[in-house]
Amino acid sequence: MAMATVTGAKAKEVAGSSADARKWIYPKLIKGKLYRYRSIVSYFLLGLLFAGPVVKINDEPLILLNVLERKFVFFGVVFLPQDFYLFAFALLSLMVFIVLFTVVLGRVWCGWACPQTIFMEMVFRKIEYWIEGDAQQQRKLNAAPLSPEKVFKKTLKHTIFVAISFLIANVFLSYIIGLEALLKIVFEPVVEHISGFISITVFTALFYLVFARLREIVCTTICPYGRLQEVLLDRSTLVVAYDYERGEPRGHITKFEIAPLGDCVDCGLCVQVCPTGIDIRQGTQMECINCTACIDACDMVMEKTNRPTRLIGFKSEEQIVAKIPFKLNKRVYAYAAILLILFGTLVTLLVRRSDIEARVLRAAGTLYQLRDDGTVSNLYNIELVNKTPGTMSFEIKLPEKDAKIQYINRATDIAKGESVKLTFFIIRPRASIKKYKSDIGLNITSEGKIISKTETTFIAPPNL
Ligand code: SF4
Ligand code: SF4
Repeated sequence: MAMATVTGAKAKEVAGSSADARKWIYPKLIKGKLYRYRSIVSYFLLGLLFAGPVVKINDEPLILLNVLERKFVFFGVVFLPQDFYLFAFALLSLMVFIVLFTVVLGRVWCGWACPQTIFMEMVFRKIEYWIEGDAQQQRKLNAAPLSPEKVFKKTLKHTIFVAISFLIANVFLSYIIGLEALLKIVFEPVVEHISGFISITVFTALFYLVFARLREIVCTTICPYGRLQEVLLDRSTLVVAYDYERGEPRGHITKFEIAPLGDCVDCGLCVQVCPTGIDIRQGTQMECINCTACIDACDMVMEKTNRPTRLIGFKSEEQIVAKIPFKLNKRVYAYAAILLILFGTLVTLLVRRSDIEARVLRAAGTLYQLRDDGTVSNLYNIELVNKTPGTMSFEIKLPEKDAKIQYINRATDIAKGESVKLTFFIIRPRASIKKYKSDIGLNITSEGKIISKTETTFIAPPNL
């Protein structure tokens, strides 16, 4: 779907993204059905966001993205650097999912699930309405000269904004370093956690800047996902759209109708409620975050004027032109199939992921040792990583009957998330060796069950 070209200029005029003057947007508060649904979704997602680092499963947080220590936790399952292939595959699947999701459902993520929009519209904007009043009152307050009332309202608002930005900064940091590390930064002397203290301060300032000043510019100019819309959307994508076939020619309701008009009464309410300051009647625009506020606004006008609702609604360009209901086309089924394959593979990889990671190598600089008792040995180093949520006891067993292990150093337990390194000989009777270099298997067992299988090479002069 071609993005309306007028909108670039219009957006600059309205949202003020031009370098010279930014026109501040005062979106009018409108409480329709979709706004109520959006509020419920937002509070649920906010609950999830705050629960992520706090709720524990297997003594691990729900989600942890510790890039510093390369430790990731999802729903209590720990992923270590050894699981990088899983992480990369999950990331790839997510990217494909986002692209396909956008091709079919447009920018609905931005309006309904993006943390930026949720915090902006459901937290910061609501506080602004509560302290300074609706759009008209905010405009008046900003234009008014300095007064005790203005100073009080502005100070109160910005103090609350800073406090919430501080809270978000803490939550954000707890996703990276974990809740326990964060609490230490908060409660222990600052001098002991200088870098942590600086991080919280910088993040607080950043979030305050985003929500108090930048606002819609993040969605219309900075966010790369927003800029991708131009290439992802087409004529069959469901987006928030104005049904120009039904709405045009627009015009105010008058007693004396000179020419037949469309359903748009040109009240401008859809523009007044838009948080990015655009006029959706000019066509699909990159600045539209699909927040659906204009749908609520227009539905309200349609109901008041006894016209069918959804003059603005979730529609595709094809639907508007052909006047047919939306139906899933072959393309959507094809996308769904690709996604199903990707997620199926991911689930299989997750299920098959072993509890222990074993990496075995023959000791560097050694070949084989011929022993007096007619056996031959090779020296190995093995590193075992425990990926389970508890301490694990283990044993290394050789499936080959006449082979045995002689340890140089040994361990039988590995703590959660830790690794151990062992050195040992594998000893085989020389009579059984048929090749100079052969593969030999190792089974790692725990409580009598094989939890991982690995393989290495064994070198010895063949007994021909
Ligand atoms: S045009 Fe409508 S859906 Fe798009 S951002 Fe504005 S109010 Fe939200
Ligand atoms: S709210 Fe509806 S009727 Fe009013 S200007 Fe927008 S599209 Fe037209």
